[in-house]
Amino acid sequence: MASGLEESATLALNARVKQMAKDGLTVFNFTAGELPCDTPEYIRNYVTGKLDQNKYTAVNGLPQLREDIAKYARNFYNQGWIKTENVVVCPSVKPGIWASVTATLNPGDEIILPTPTWVSYKHIVHIAGLKLVQTRLSDNFDLDIDDIKSKITGKTKAILLNSPQNPTGAIYSQEKINQLVTLSNENNITVISDEIYSKLVFDPVFKPVSSFDFNNLIILDGFSKSQALTGWRIGFIIAPENIAKACTKILSHVMGNASIISQYAAIAALEKDNKPVMFKELEANLEFACNKLNEIKKIKYVKPSGAFYIFLDIREMTQESLKWCEDLLQKKGVALVPGEAFDAPGFARMSFSADPEIIAQGLDLLKEYTEENYA
Ligand code: PMP
Repeated sequence: MASGLEESATLALNARVKQMAKDGLTVFNFTAGELPCDTPEYIRNYVTGKLDQNKYTAVNGLPQLREDIAKYARNFYNQGWIKTENVVVCPSVKPGIWASVTATLNPGDEIILPTPTWVSYKHIVHIAGLKLVQTRLSDNFDLDIDDIKSKITGKTKAILLNSPQNPTGAIYSQEKINQLVTLSNENNITVISDEIYSKLVFDPVFKPVSSFDFNNLIILDGFSKSQALTGWRIGFIIAPENIAKACTKILSHVMGNASIISQYAAIAALEKDNKPVMFKELEANLEFACNKLNEIKKIKYVKPSGAFYIFLDIREMTQESLKWCEDLLQKKGVALVPGEAFDAPGFARMSFSADPEIIAQGLDLLKEYTEENYA
């Protein structure tokens, strides 16, 4: 089972770049999948009074948190059916994805995954013994419904969506999502929607995937990205009651409950409607980074609508992003994640969740690198 697995390329690279900085090298780190700030003060204040609490909670979470999540999700996703019984709190979105695919599909069932794709999905699918079927996103990173249609077989049970998407920052158009509603409902396909970036959206016409009328819908969401709580490991699953119960059983044996302190942090975040921290700064960083990137002739990109990534198209220079990124890191100290990590060679992911001064200097060096090596 473990033979086909690789360690998360993004986490490994981020750790390597942090170590390089510790060793005294100057590095401009654009690999981070997290916000650069500390734990928000309102969360710190809320949990400080709870540090005496050290017991297991119910596997599926504190009753108050499940109620709060149900209320939040009913409203945010405009899905009146969501009740407390549909909510499973879990130690972050990653195990939530694993539990929900394990609860919904049987070994050998097929699951469709739009690509470029976030690193972990295909490994989670592998661990769960499922068959991965990839569908390419279009040139502007929207769903390609005809391609999805052509990939459906009698064994297709689910499609795994993520919008805003990692690594492209794209949001799927409402037109394509509507077409997918028809296609998935007709074919009895479960839509598993990872909404972890749904609070980090710069496009005013955004409608989350999970707010559409899918007959079979599982929502995954959490607090890692919106609340700068990546290290606290806290997320949730929303699913039909039978699936929610199955997820709870699965998690009860492998994980148990999410950390009780992190659950209180989530309650504090929901008191503020999960309003994202650093949103204004990210929005400004995006504009700033795009202006600098526009000066680099050899790099193209589709401006992201959400999350904090820009997916750089470096195909004019190379199809081998791994080598290109390594060379860039060695020569200029600029760290990007190579597209191979997302099944998209010829691209590199830049996180703009960084200090503006770092963005300014790093992108100047990137420009220099392209001009010196690919004039
Ligand atoms: N989904 C996506 C698309 C992500 O980018 C990430 C984190 N990089 C996760 C899930 C994992 O989130 P969590 O920290 O809640 O496990």
